[in-house]
Amino acid sequence: MRLSFPYMGPTIVYKKLFELLGHDVVMPPKPNKEIIDLGVKYSPEFACFPFKVITGIYLKLMEKNVNTLVTSGGHGPCRAGYYGEVHKKILKDLGYDVEIIVIDSPHDDYKYFYDIVKRLKGDSSWFKVAKVIKTIYDLTRALDEIEKKIEVLRAYSDSGKINRIWMDAQQDFYQIKSAAEVKEIKNKYLNKLEKFKTSIPPENERYRIGIIGEIYVVLEQSINNQIEEKVNRFGFEVERSQYLTDWVRDNALPFTGKDLEEIEAKGEEFIEIEIGGHARGNIGHAIDFKEKGFDGIIHLKPFGCLPELVSQSVMDDLSEKYEIPVLTISIDEQTADANVLTRVEAFLDMIKEKDYREVM
Ligand code: SF4
Repeated sequence: MRLSFPYMGPTIVYKKLFELLGHDVVMPPKPNKEIIDLGVKYSPEFACFPFKVITGIYLKLMEKNVNTLVTSGGHGPCRAGYYGEVHKKILKDLGYDVEIIVIDSPHDDYKYFYDIVKRLKGDSSWFKVAKVIKTIYDLTRALDEIEKKIEVLRAYSDSGKINRIWMDAQQDFYQIKSAAEVKEIKNKYLNKLEKFKTSIPPENERYRIGIIGEIYVVLEQSINNQIEEKVNRFGFEVERSQYLTDWVRDNALPFTGKDLEEIEAKGEEFIEIEIGGHARGNIGHAIDFKEKGFDGIIHLKPFGCLPELVSQSVMDDLSEKYEIPVLTISIDEQTADANVLTRVEAFLDMIKEKDYREVM
């Protein structure tokens, strides 16, 4: 198989997974204007924005003779469940004969999940598969652990230096072949970040923003206009509602997913039924951020996303009841960097000005 996958967040994780299983892996291109324009051109007009971006990525990959695309599915009434079929049809209409393998959560259908894993493992023994899964899970956790530290430290330190460390760490992780190497690299970069800790101010002078929203726009920096860096630039720490480790634990590992259930239960107060995507989970995360003492929420909503449109409609009530400011940003191919920067700056200024902590 000469395979690839959509570019999303720490893409190195998917590359290493398939590489260690012995596949010929083609790294997908990072979304940019050319890719987005291509995706917009060949996608249905009212498809949600992540669908269009992924169409563009797939079309660029076709130039590299990829014959298999591996992607995740979706559950509940959301378009993610149709991505595989619709992309296949678009590519076929354009003359590309490519197989799309959709990995659905084992919680939805254990037998289907087992069959997909069996196909993707190729000639590897089950013992090797277990070792690779352990290595990749450790890699995912290591990347998330380092990134969470960066999202705090960058608010108080030289962002150029911190970003350089983050880029070097990702480069080093590209070379790993075992869980032991993951641990070694993780410790090396956590140590490098340690010296920046002295810049963190006392607890009562720290401001924190929680970022919630649809998974693709939350995880993919090239699509969300590097929103985390923008928030950090104004001296606010950031934490996202979703990290890849959480997604893997909740969706790809059998017999887990309890954390997501607990978060979704908090969201039931505003969205009673499952409406797909991460809508109910996002409401739960917003409440959870408030309970953890965060100062504001930034909600990222891709254009054309029905679940996030519903969650946006309850944000005012949530904001009023829990006394936490919420900024919703809609993201599509027209979203301009300067627009996001201005709105984020105004939102963060307002938080400091009003000091919501005093009314708590
Ligand atoms: S959650 Fe929204 S953006 Fe994501 S696949 Fe579903 S409809 Fe599209």
